[in-house]
Amino acid sequence: MKLENTAENREIANRYRQLLKVSKWSREKGDVQIIRKAFVMAVDAHSSMRRKSGEPYIYHPIAVARIVAEEIGLGTTAIVCALLHDVVEDTDITLEEIQQAFDPKVANIIDGLTKISGVYDTSSPQAENFRKMLLTMADDVRVILIKLCDRLHNMRTLEHMSDRGQLKIASETSFIYAPLAHRLGLYAIKTELEDLSLKYTQPALYQDLKYKLNASKEQRNRYIRSFIKPIKVELDELGADYEIKGRPKSIHSIYTKMVNKKLEFEDVYDLFAIRIILDSEPEDEKMDCWNVYSIITSIFKPNPERMRDWISIPKSNGYESLHSTVMGPKGQWVEVQIRSTRMDAIAEKGYAAHWKYKDKKNANSSNNLDNWLTQIREILEDQDGTALDFLDEFKMNLYAKEVFAFTPKGMLRKLPKGATALDFAFDIHSEVGAKCLGAKVNGKLVPLSYEIKNGDQIEILTSAKQKPNKDWLNFVKTSKAKNKIKQSLKDEKRVVAALGKEALGRKMKNTGFPYTVDNLNKLVAFFKTEDELELTYQIGAGTLDKEKIKLSEILVETTKVHKPGTERLDPSKLTSKTSRELLLGDATIDMDYTFANCCNPIPGDQVVGFITVGGEVKIHQTACKNAQNLMSKYGYRIIKARWAGQGNIEEEFEAALEIRGIDSLGLVGKVTDIVSKQLKVNMKSISFESLDGTFLGKLMLQVTDKQHLEQLMEELKGIDEYIKVKRIDLENIPKLTS
Ligand code: MN
Repeated sequence: MKLENTAENREIANRYRQLLKVSKWSREKGDVQIIRKAFVMAVDAHSSMRRKSGEPYIYHPIAVARIVAEEIGLGTTAIVCALLHDVVEDTDITLEEIQQAFDPKVANIIDGLTKISGVYDTSSPQAENFRKMLLTMADDVRVILIKLCDRLHNMRTLEHMSDRGQLKIASETSFIYAPLAHRLGLYAIKTELEDLSLKYTQPALYQDLKYKLNASKEQRNRYIRSFIKPIKVELDELGADYEIKGRPKSIHSIYTKMVNKKLEFEDVYDLFAIRIILDSEPEDEKMDCWNVYSIITSIFKPNPERMRDWISIPKSNGYESLHSTVMGPKGQWVEVQIRSTRMDAIAEKGYAAHWKYKDKKNANSSNNLDNWLTQIREILEDQDGTALDFLDEFKMNLYAKEVFAFTPKGMLRKLPKGATALDFAFDIHSEVGAKCLGAKVNGKLVPLSYEIKNGDQIEILTSAKQKPNKDWLNFVKTSKAKNKIKQSLKDEKRVVAALGKEALGRKMKNTGFPYTVDNLNKLVAFFKTEDELELTYQIGAGTLDKEKIKLSEILVETTKVHKPGTERLDPSKLTSKTSRELLLGDATIDMDYTFANCCNPIPGDQVVGFITVGGEVKIHQTACKNAQNLMSKYGYRIIKARWAGQGNIEEEFEAALEIRGIDSLGLVGKVTDIVSKQLKVNMKSISFESLDGTFLGKLMLQVTDKQHLEQLMEELKGIDEYIKVKRIDLENIPKLTS
């Protein structure tokens, strides 16, 4: 390709040479040819296009490629992709052509970039686009890195946009791109994106702060010089190889601090910040940082509340640094950051710098980012909510501060700040989370909602019988835990619905209505449930008002099912009181029966009859140990028994519950309140004992059936996350002493 020798073309060539210059360090043999090929293709494709500023369009891809190489430090593949990032979207060139001309990796990244080219907008399916972007990112993080560079260049040149366009792009930037840059450890880019976005969303305020910063600049510099002076003396004495930078706070960070802490510009205290960068050998760098720390804190008093050690435990985006805020001259707080050149490069350039340092000894920090990408992949794969839900959660994750905790074996886990013991359980493994019963923190039993503090050692107690419940959603913070719990609740709903379906089917059969789609639709419409699943779930869970299930009034009788040889039940009788709760044998046997005292079955329990020597029938729960013992020995005396139907028994049955948990104030009150007030259950006795912070309660109640009892148990479990409720045999209830 030969460009005409116009001023504009000379400028294009000039910018291209600059790009080659800044990317030199990463290039290998043959790379220049590939970059040139991409450049030629892009120039050609965009030749007739101009930017809003009137400049040739090609300036933009070249600029993006330059940011990619210079500010993030990515190599040839990314540079090629940056040059071509807009061609498939905006020109005649197809992805196939790119596939033919370049490496498959290039085509893959460009495909990702093209898919996400739509801007993010909460009112449109663009949130879905964003999700796609993250999915692609999980494939190859360079997609998002190039996207960030693209956005940065657009923000730098935003003045040519219309006001509306400016606002839209600027808010989108602060909403999603700056947090992403933050999460990827690209602090310099994050800060610039934030400042630029503030410049367009709040122009007056931005200009005001900028003016004030400028006006106070000389004064601040003077102060910093006086602060640094004694430090330099000591560092020189030590023979350290170092650099000290005064670090002006970004306009955005000053603004955030003013808003969050309701302070005036003059009061934002760590306006003063310096950074000390040590040129250390990798094996000495930590020690050197701590040495400098001790020098500084011996000169100035540190604020112990504001000490941050990200050297021993780097942030999961790879950030390593030692921060301290000390009281400088004239009673001013000064933030001091201490780090090595390697740490500084990682802090500024993030991901790419990890690659550069990856082979070196100290680069375990890049694993953190890989872990994070794995996590994103997991979240994305699990997601079944809306794209917007996902976005909210994901965004929360981006800015969340971190806490770290240890497993009993001393493995370090990092979680977002505010994460609970239950989050920790899910972080270890989703099965551990699902079966989590409790936790011990530093040896002490804590509720699952316990908020993790830095350095906690957490042991998760599990039980095979445990399963996630709805309340858990109230105290987990991580997306992983939330998604797993939601999934499990959904599965459980299906199980309950299956029971409900069975019960409904039985009832319909008994009352002579066929279980048809048509009839089901009528029921769904009558009960105003969302669908069949919801209807059967509510029946299964016993939350549907039983009084209302009068099938004969809802359904039109069609063909009646008549079971030969059985006594046909009159539908109207089912809702009236019948004298018999149980049907024995094939429902034609007329024998007296009593309920066994050992297990006290209630309607809904699986039951079995056992003919006693006296010729009477005793009804046991199928699960009753006595019954099982008898059945194994005297099988011939077993008689089939089933409950006559649901909703037709007005008699009350006795049942006993045992409640265990962590003792807390007002607990007994809560239990009795639920039992007697909320659910209007008759309580025959209650006993509570407490021991070492745990309690054991036993209740004897009168309930109408199993559903009734289970509903009550669910409510009781809802008191707090730590409560365990189980049904016990009446025998275990202590006799009331009069
Ligand atoms: Mn672009």
